[in-house]
Amino acid sequence: RRPYSDEVKRAQNADVNSSGPTIFDKIISKEIKADIIYEDELCLAFNDIAPQAPVHFLVIPKRKISRLQDSETGDKELLGHLMLVARSLGAARAPQGWRLVVNNGVHGAQSVYHLHLHVLGGRQLKWPPG
Ligand code: 5GP
Repeated sequence: RRPYSDEVKRAQNADVNSSGPTIFDKIISKEIKADIIYEDELCLAFNDIAPQAPVHFLVIPKRKISRLQDSETGDKELLGHLMLVARSLGAARAPQGWRLVVNNGVHGAQSVYHLHLHVLGGRQLKWPPG
């Protein structure tokens, strides 16, 4: 497992102001391989490349929203959809419970500026997070 500080460093070095494509665009277009576990017209779910728990996958919208902070009222249905997909996959893959995380911006330790819901489970998680 990658130490948490690496992730924070990566997040701090991420280009916050870039509105260009991210690695997730290449995953959506299948240019880069990912372990995809669910796909529909609005979103994609795939296993995280550096899992922090036995179950760790990401749910992302196909239409890019950089940060949750950049979403708008008109995104209500899309955001709800992402959460319902996370719910169904979480319930199936981590029936004893899971955690939904959205890292937003630098202090939130966001490293990829394409909105994603982390779903973590498969072990007892601790609280509070770092
Ligand atoms: P963030 O730190 O932005 O909330 O989360 C980004 C997540 O994307 C990290 O957990 C990281 O491991 C994951 N990630 C980054 N690049 C890739 C990739 O190319 N493939 C997959 N499957 N996950 C990735």
